[in-house]
Amino acid sequence: MNERVRTSESENAASTVSGRDPYADGAPDWERVELRRMLLLGLAFMALFFSFGLFLGGSLSGMGGMVVVSLVLAVAGIIMLGMRPVLLKRHRREVVRWKKDNHVQCEYCGGTNHKDDHRCHFCGAPLR
Ligand SMILES: [Zn+2]
Repeated sequence: MNERVRTSESENAASTVSGRDPYADGAPDWERVELRRMLLLGLAFMALFFSFGLFLGGSLSGMGGMVVVSLVLAVAGIIMLGMRPVLLKRHRREVVRWKKDNHVQCEYCGGTNHKDDHRCHFCGAPLR
């Protein structure tokens, strides 16, 4: 872990200075994904809430337009809820890809090493 931080500091000094680059240390940023998922949940909740209100108001007052808008909002809310697992899956794919791109497996002991390492952390064997 420390190894990764140390090498990424020298590699990505520029992006560290310019602000918080989610890929500054190479790893996909879980917090950012979680924030988006929270945001989607909030927006979806709001859309469904207003949809319900418009549906009630529209059906009670007999205004078909309000009912139509409420249905559109309901669909939007459901789509936003559906996006949450999609974001999660995409993040997991990114993590897997990042691990594959930045780590090498030792041929001898199977230990996971950083791609820039020359020798295995675990058994000391030279890495390809
Ligand atoms: Zn090894």
